[in-house]
Amino acid sequence: MFSELKPLPTDPILGLMAAYKQDTNPNKIDLGVGVYKDEHGDTPVLKAVKQAEAFRLENEKTKSYIGLAGNLEFCHKMEQLLLGEHRTLLANRVRTAQTPGGTGALRVAAEFIKRCNSNATVWVTTPTWANHISLFEAAGLTVKEYPYYDYENKGLLFDEMINTLKQVPKGDIVLLHACCHNPSGMDLNEEQWKTVAELAKEVGFTPLIDIAYQGFGSSLDDDAKGLRLIADTVEELIVCSSCSKNFGLYRERIGACTLIAKDAATADISNSVLLSVVRSIYSMPPAHGADIVNTILSSEELTKMWHEELDEMRTRINGLRTLIKNSLAAKGVDQDFSFIDRQNGMFSFLGINKEQIERLQKEYAIYIVGSSRVNVAGVSHTNIDYFANAVADVLN
Ligand code: PMP
Repeated sequence: MFSELKPLPTDPILGLMAAYKQDTNPNKIDLGVGVYKDEHGDTPVLKAVKQAEAFRLENEKTKSYIGLAGNLEFCHKMEQLLLGEHRTLLANRVRTAQTPGGTGALRVAAEFIKRCNSNATVWVTTPTWANHISLFEAAGLTVKEYPYYDYENKGLLFDEMINTLKQVPKGDIVLLHACCHNPSGMDLNEEQWKTVAELAKEVGFTPLIDIAYQGFGSSLDDDAKGLRLIADTVEELIVCSSCSKNFGLYRERIGACTLIAKDAATADISNSVLLSVVRSIYSMPPAHGADIVNTILSSEELTKMWHEELDEMRTRINGLRTLIKNSLAAKGVDQDFSFIDRQNGMFSFLGINKEQIERLQKEYAIYIVGSSRVNVAGVSHTNIDYFANAVADVLN
């Protein structure tokens, strides 16, 4: 059976990671992988996480199964983080299952959608995180794209987006990035979120909000404002969240799939289907990550520590955006890179061509994915000069 298989290409980002690791150039810079990095290029464990882990080691009483929905206290804390004060109003309509990462949440959501309507199409932004397309297709759903990023003007194709979403058939799903759009860094503003929320109600599509970077854009609350607006407007909504970035828990695989239904009875029925989906994929989620997040969010002291660490990550990213813009301008680069400073989160497209990306890798050991998406957090105050010189060289 296995001999019938044809080899598949490796994920371009994973290939890039491997090439970077092997590169012996002491000046090498990795702008490919989507993880936060500090000034030293490290992705350290947060102090709040370390303390919560010490507490857990001391206090964990059993390794028995935690149940299909995972840690229920964690689930409620996630609802609070996502919905803020809106949760009180929505509470009897909200159900959450803890999942293995944001990817697990999306895969569970995909199977849930399949059970609701096997003919549903999932509409995603052009471009989107590549895994969105594979994981919805893997669940047997059709994926279509709607215009989003304006490559030419480094902004949004908002009118085109709305015109396409107006045509979406009732019962389809529209995936929206809550904040820090991956890969473009371009987010909707409040007015635009209002328009999309009203459109969802009018047209009858179900929004699916992917929130993988809450706290990396403006603030925990601000980054959820679009999601909260939609939750206040529509009857049904799916939210897939991740604690990989904002808690730095990448390899612990912790996220959540939240459903908001039109009333409590529908929420209970939907939840039973969601849990049956979970049962048939991985039965029950792992405990560690949820326990860490719950411990942090249950303690005033650890929450404060986490907020400070999250603020530090966000401030660093935003500072680097300004630094990149200014450094490229200072090197006399003709192209306008001011858009980098207007975008959010870790990613932006540099907007340079394949040949220039290849030269950056070959001549300067600067690793960027083929789309020209860069992880801003890979730049530091130490390597910025080297980076800006290299970009100026390949562009001029
Ligand atoms: N959604 C988006 C847009 C992402 O960028 C990511 C991570 N790269 C995820 C979801 C999933 O994150 P994870 O599974 O690592 O929690």
